[in-house]
Amino acid sequence: MSSIVLSVVVPMYNEEAVIPALVARLRPVLDGMGVPYEVVAVDDGSADRTAALLLDHCGIWPELRLVKLRRNSGHQAALTAGLHRSRGDWVVSIDADLQDPPETIPEMLTLARDRGLDVVYGVRADRSTDTPFKRYTAGAYYRLMRRLIGGDVPSQAGDFRLLSREAVDVLRALPERTPVYRLLVPSLGFASGSVSYVREQRAAGDTKYPLRKMVELAWDSAADFSAAPLRIATWLGALAFLACLALMVFGIVVWANGTVIPGWTSLFLAVLLLAAVQLICLGLLGEYVARIYRTVQSRPPFHVASDSIEAPQQRPAAAAR
Ligand code: UDP
Ligand code: MG
Repeated sequence: MSSIVLSVVVPMYNEEAVIPALVARLRPVLDGMGVPYEVVAVDDGSADRTAALLLDHCGIWPELRLVKLRRNSGHQAALTAGLHRSRGDWVVSIDADLQDPPETIPEMLTLARDRGLDVVYGVRADRSTDTPFKRYTAGAYYRLMRRLIGGDVPSQAGDFRLLSREAVDVLRALPERTPVYRLLVPSLGFASGSVSYVREQRAAGDTKYPLRKMVELAWDSAADFSAAPLRIATWLGALAFLACLALMVFGIVVWANGTVIPGWTSLFLAVLLLAAVQLICLGLLGEYVARIYRTVQSRPPFHVASDSIEAPQQRPAAAAR
C-alpha cells in the first residue's frame, strides 16, 4: 500500500476567489496532523484561473496535486475523479468554499481509527449561515429521499465525509454512471459514525449550484435509488381511468335520458387529459430508458486532462507523409 495516509479530495469549479483562503486554512491543519498526506484538487473544467492558481501553489506546497478535467463534468463527477485518483489509506472529500471546516478532518480520522469505522459523515448541526431558500430546499430533499429510499439516509450529511481505502475501492468498482455519493455511501452498509459541525458561510465567490444543478441532483438521487417515479405513471393512469369511467357513466345516463348535449367540452377535456397523462408516463419511462442507455454506453463520466504528479504526456510527432 502507498505510504500516503490521508487524501483530501477538493472538487473545484471556478473557485479562483477562494483558493488563497482555502490554502491558508487547510494546510496548517493537515501539516499539524503529522501523517503523510496529499490534497487532490480536481479542477472541474473551470473557465477562470483556478487551474493556474492551483498549479502555482503546487510549486510551494508539495502535497498539493492538481487533477484537471477536460470539461465541466459536475460536482459528483469531479468527486469521482478525485476518489479514483486518490492514493491515501483514508480519503476525505470536502468543498472548496470552506463551508465545511477543515479543522474537523483530524476529528474524523481519529474517530474512524479509534472505533474501526469505514465511513465518517460530517453532519451539519447548524445551517443558519445558508440562505433560507437553500435550507428549505435541502430539508425538502432529505425528506423526499428518506421517503423514497427508506430510513438509512443520514440527514444533513452532504459530501463532507471520510472514507476508508476499502470503502473507496468498493465505490470505484461500482459501474454507476451518475453516482450520488450521499445516498450511495450509506447504501453500502459500511460501519459508520458522524462528526457534527457548524456550516460556515462561503469564504469567497458565489455558489456553483444554481437551481438547475440542484434539480438535477434531486432527480438523479430519486431515479438512481428508486423506481417510485415510475409508479407515479401507474397512479396517473389509474386516476385517468377512473375519470373516464365516470365520464362513461355520465355519457350513458345522458344518452338514456335522451338529452342531446353539444358534447364538445367533455370530449375536448377527456382527450386533453388523456393525452397529458400519456405524455407524462412516456416521459417517465423515457427517463429510465435514458439511464439504461447511458449505462450500456458506459462512457466515462469525466476525462482527466492532466495530473500534476504525472509527467506531461509526450505528443507523438506528426507522422511524415
Ligand atoms: N463544484 C464542482 N463542479 C460543479 C459545481 C460545483 O466541482 O459543476 C464544486 C464547487 O467548486 C464546490 C463544491 O462543488 O467545491 C460545492 O459547490 P458549492 O459550494 O457552490 O455548492 P453549495 O454549497 O452552494 O451547495
Ligand atoms: Mg458551498
